[in-house]
Amino acid sequence: MKQQICILGSTGSIGTQALDVIRQHSDLYEVYCLTAHNRVEQLAAQAHEFKPASVVIANETHYERLKELLADAPDIKVYAGASALEQIVEAAPIDMVLTAMVGYAGLAPTIRAIKARKKICLANKETLVVAGELITKLAIEYHAPILPVDSEHSAIFQCLVGEDMNEIEKILLTCSGGPFRQFTADQLATVTAADALKHPTWDMGAKITIDSASLMNKGFEVMEAKWLFGVPADKIQVLIHPQSIVHSAVQFADGGVKAQLGVPDMRLPIQYAFSFPRRLRLDGPRLDLFGQPLAFFKPDLTKFKCLALAYEALDKGGNMPCILNAANEVVNAAFREGRCGFLGMADIIEQTMLRTTFEAAPDYDTYVRTDAEARRIATELL
Ligand code: NDP
Ligand code: MG
Repeated sequence: MKQQICILGSTGSIGTQALDVIRQHSDLYEVYCLTAHNRVEQLAAQAHEFKPASVVIANETHYERLKELLADAPDIKVYAGASALEQIVEAAPIDMVLTAMVGYAGLAPTIRAIKARKKICLANKETLVVAGELITKLAIEYHAPILPVDSEHSAIFQCLVGEDMNEIEKILLTCSGGPFRQFTADQLATVTAADALKHPTWDMGAKITIDSASLMNKGFEVMEAKWLFGVPADKIQVLIHPQSIVHSAVQFADGGVKAQLGVPDMRLPIQYAFSFPRRLRLDGPRLDLFGQPLAFFKPDLTKFKCLALAYEALDKGGNMPCILNAANEVVNAAFREGRCGFLGMADIIEQTMLRTTFEAAPDYDTYVRTDAEARRIATELL
């Protein structure tokens, strides 16, 4: 029996690479559902190739166009809107849901997929940033496994295979440092989105590439690691590792450190999340350890204030990470559109964290309320 996969965000960087994995292993995997937000032509082309049972376009204004494009494929059901996207993950034949959509919008469908007891291949890290406690609780309650797709977390997960009995002493979370690693504060003041979009080692979607340049992405990943592996923040150390070869490591009680290494290729963590505990063949370049030396540095929290703010949000807990995420989504989009400077992003996030109502014990409704309030405040501050 082939595993049936639902890809939320199939037109993005992770989504298209996941389809490449499925293409290479069509004997094991089948696409049950594909979803996108705006890129309707690309979604239709994917549907023609993979013949899923259904497709969903989140932006309803593209519904008629998608119907038209798929008029020659009457077996593919076409839906539109955020609530259709939330419903589709519950379809009985689906075995795994790959959450490859970007931002807070991933939270609701991920919760629905967990409650439907699907295996979650989690790329959408914002889900764990916003509601890590709730998601982990639900995953246990509904027996829904969460497999990490983020490269660092996949690396940690791979290091933990066979270590069920052993306590983690420390997680070593690596970070390329982004394109501005060696910039001075003065230089950072004038960088543009075009500069930030030139990531030195990874080719990713626009939002996460900006988050990688500001190191907010690493702050998010500390939170993601905390929830996925049940390790407190003070046992998660961030290391700047410009070569992006060591994807992360785990230190155990005997001082032993296990790391996972490889070329930067997201298809490996995507495929591993699908196939765990098996390793399948993946064609592509292989690591050449003679190629370059490995270096590791401490991150500069004064220069990269977003990482400091993420630590602060983590320390405060409650709905503070949700506030941080909402403000970040607003300023990240504004920076890409030239409406906010690079350093201005951290200032607005900090102000939003001070002004949004803090709640120490949030539930789902709190997150919805907090996200809306923080977005409104960050937008006003802009
Ligand atoms: P992209 O921007 O490349 O793709 C995002 C996907 O989500 C697209 O299919 C997009 O549709 C869809 N989408 C965007 N907004 C919405 C919405 N409101 N409702 C429904 N669908 C939406 O992002 P990435 O693939 O880079 O990242 C996806 C997630 O994976 C993010 O959470 C990111 O942090 C995480 N991640 C990504 C990595 C990478 O290498 N790219 C590495 C580790 C984690 P459309 O194309 O139509 O706009
Ligand atoms: Mg990562």
